[in-house]
Amino acid sequence: MGKCHDNGDIKVTATDPCNPPPCGAPRRASVPARLKTSGADAQPTKNDPLAWFEHMIPNCLQYASDAKARGRHIVGIMCEYTPRELILAADAVPVCLCGGSAEMIRPAEEHLPANLCPLIKSTFGYHVQQANPFLEMADLVVAETTCDGKKKMYELMAESRTMHVLELPQKPDDADALAHWVTELRKLRARLEDLLHVTITDAKIRAAIRTMNRERRLRRQLAALMESEHPPLTGRQLLQLKSNISGIDADLTQYTRVLEMFGSKHAAWAVPANSPRAGPAARGGHSPPYPVRVLLTGVPVVHGAERVVELIETHGGLIVCMDNCTGLKPILEDVEETASDPIVALAEKYFRLPCSVMTKNNRRLGILRDLARQYRAQCVIDLIWQACLTYDVESYFVKKLAEDDLGLPYLRIETDYSPSDSARIALRVEALFETVQQRAGRQA
Ligand code: SF4
Ligand code: SF4
Repeated sequence: MGKCHDNGDIKVTATDPCNPPPCGAPRRASVPARLKTSGADAQPTKNDPLAWFEHMIPNCLQYASDAKARGRHIVGIMCEYTPRELILAADAVPVCLCGGSAEMIRPAEEHLPANLCPLIKSTFGYHVQQANPFLEMADLVVAETTCDGKKKMYELMAESRTMHVLELPQKPDDADALAHWVTELRKLRARLEDLLHVTITDAKIRAAIRTMNRERRLRRQLAALMESEHPPLTGRQLLQLKSNISGIDADLTQYTRVLEMFGSKHAAWAVPANSPRAGPAARGGHSPPYPVRVLLTGVPVVHGAERVVELIETHGGLIVCMDNCTGLKPILEDVEETASDPIVALAEKYFRLPCSVMTKNNRRLGILRDLARQYRAQCVIDLIWQACLTYDVESYFVKKLAEDDLGLPYLRIETDYSPSDSARIALRVEALFETVQQRAGRQA
């Protein structure tokens, strides 16, 4: 197999970040069979994009291991405010390190308060367990001062890892805020050059901007497939069509392949038999009303933490639009490719990301309003990870927007990575969809 990197001091545990070893298992497990990158299982057919992205973690692991073996550096990122372009321009590989595994929560709670968002705890659990092969490979971790939980967690992580923390200004409308962010990105550029012994030229940054713009454009086009009256994908399938590492040619090829497959006419893709989108024959009965079109907003749904998305779509909904950081929000805009100062161009694009850590964060509401209309959402579901104060408080405005401005039913779901409340969530989701169906019936 293309074995995981094991070079001098760097030892990598080839553990699937989505399927970590049970707590208490040896930290440095041997390579699980499902991650082996040689053999029939490890080579998903390149003609089936969905199968390709089902193997996203092993694909990325192989890519990162090969890159590392060829002398490229690995740089972990924790948030969508980090411009991947700068990392690519340093000829390094930008890897998302956000944790989506419930298994990693308990080890994290040995160091962190239990009353913290599961995304932070899971990410940190991988750190203490040394169970995320990408993190173990990373030469640097870039983080930002976003929410309090994250930035304090980084201090613990920095005790044993090389970190660079960007200071994110949090009043986006202040005149000097963007200037500060530009300075922070210049400092990151200098840090990358210094640490990785590279020169990041403007030309290299522009090349990386072109790559990332292409990736964003393709992913926007994929998302736009869901505007259709009868979208060819489920929201869960769309969520799967992305990678933990940006700028991989093979991934971009697969995005293009999906778009070619569906083109202007929407062919049916294989959907699970228990999905509301499966045909009557697959379900062995009559077709129910077409699923309710859902706009999902709120916290990111990182790889491995897709439970709520699946609950929504197996109980009568179809997520036609996700505005969060694992959906459209970070890819709505491109970076200007011909700007005289590419760092300023990057700063302008990334600073416009409407995260709830910003005050005020009115831009999020404007985007939500536009997306709800564009995707003809019939309701809004606001997902809040437990103890995520910023998204939780902001749900007040989202509810008002949904109900008063858009006239759409709204449901706030606060949960964590544990499946213990799945039945309760399913009931609430079904009740929401009933309301939508009743309204639609009255209007018909
Ligand atoms: S939700 Fe905010 S803190 Fe989380 S990844 Fe997005 S921008 Fe970063
Ligand atoms: S979901 Fe909320 S609490 Fe968790 S990392 Fe993101 S902003 Fe912070």
